[in-house]
Amino acid sequence: EQAQAEGADVQPVYSPLQALAAAREFPGRQAVFLGIGFETTLPGIGLLIKQAQEADLGNLSVLLSAKRVPPVLEALLAGGQARIDGFVTPGHVTAIIGTKAYDALCENYHVPMVVGGFEPLDLLGAIHLLSKEMVAGGQGNRNAYSRVVSHAGNRKAQALLEAVFEVKDDALRGLGVIPRAGYAIREAYGRYDAERRFEIATRSCEPDGCICGEILCGVKAPADCPLFGTVCTPGSPVGSCMVSNEGACNAAFLFD
Ligand code: SF4
Repeated sequence: EQAQAEGADVQPVYSPLQALAAAREFPGRQAVFLGIGFETTLPGIGLLIKQAQEADLGNLSVLLSAKRVPPVLEALLAGGQARIDGFVTPGHVTAIIGTKAYDALCENYHVPMVVGGFEPLDLLGAIHLLSKEMVAGGQGNRNAYSRVVSHAGNRKAQALLEAVFEVKDDALRGLGVIPRAGYAIREAYGRYDAERRFEIATRSCEPDGCICGEILCGVKAPADCPLFGTVCTPGSPVGSCMVSNEGACNAAFLFD
């Protein structure tokens, strides 16, 4: 919105493939798709890159910021800072990677995990199953969203990710660099990588005074942040936890 207000041509899209149409419509201009998200959104971005290559489009590229969930969970468990008794794992991510992606974590860190859906009853069901595991002292990797999620995950989407992207060490705001926590576009598709095409040096941005990292680790609450609700609000977020309604600070601001 800020860039738009300053005159940039920023178009919201509902599917990555709409970027193909935009690039075709304006062949004299460079279209850059901002590809952000986790394993959930990445297959669609991979498909965009593949179709751009097949169509030999020379005026489209992707600025990628894509993270992987299992390495982040492992970093939280291995760091020892967070007191974690169990995880409700994300249904959309797990629909792609499958519950198998958490098998080793449950076993190595003796922590139970339950994948949940997004309806209130889905979440209650996941919390119920997780509570039972915790009371029993279990370390099970359970599925409370079996109408969407399987143990193997979506193999077609996994093959697409493998073909277009490679795993890299990556920084997450507030958590620092985590091994194998991000994706990069493979050399074979380097022509569609905006970082390479425009020689963009991306950098991590840690706002002064923001304690998102500690909130994400569960060691501090949003109200512990001196900026909460004063300098930092949903209308003018300072850190990532205030940006969307999935953020802890945003939820605390709106509902506490
Ligand atoms: S209130 Fe804002 S600045 Fe403070 S931790 Fe949350 S996102 Fe960061």
